[in-house]
Amino acid sequence: MRTKLFAALLGLLTSAALLIASATSASAATAKSQNGWTVITKSTSSKLATYKVPGTKHGLLLRKGDAGVLLVDFANWYNKQVEKLSLYKAGDDYGWSYRKIRGSQTTYSNHASGTAIDLNATRHPLNTTAAHSFTKKQIAAIHKRLKRYSGVIRWGGDYQHRKDPMHFEINKSVAATHKVYKKLFPCHSPTC
Ligand SMILES: [Zn+2]
Repeated sequence: MRTKLFAALLGLLTSAALLIASATSASAATAKSQNGWTVITKSTSSKLATYKVPGTKHGLLLRKGDAGVLLVDFANWYNKQVEKLSLYKAGDDYGWSYRKIRGSQTTYSNHASGTAIDLNATRHPLNTTAAHSFTKKQIAAIHKRLKRYSGVIRWGGDYQHRKDPMHFEINKSVAATHKVYKKLFPCHSPTC
């Protein structure tokens, strides 16, 4: 009886060790962007989808599923309530891009995981404050709207250092993002 128990325990320990080993090698092989989401290396990846912003000609290439739906939900509101997308220059709204953070050799940008958007990039350049190109009213409206996502979407205009007012990104884990997605879209569709 004891021997059997010992053998069972040993089996359990071995499978636990194997699990840990495989998890370790998987994480080493899979690059993550700054927010911890896995990097997508090709624009043709099945993990990406082009999300149309309703009422515009524009589509944003984003991570398919919760992250993409929440970001395009924000972009759609922004287009209606803050300013028209590409109002200042056609085609300066961006989603996925396989690249490192500007100025970094090591850390992938959240654009590389398809979990960030740049809106009206030309109008709101990197390294300028939000107040440089948005009115107080627009800034207040953006902050109010971001509350809808319970901290899942962060604005580059709120960065402590090197502000990036064109930039909005997923700032929480896959699980936390899914929770907010389910709260906002209980029927699992952005159109319900
Ligand atoms: Zn950006």
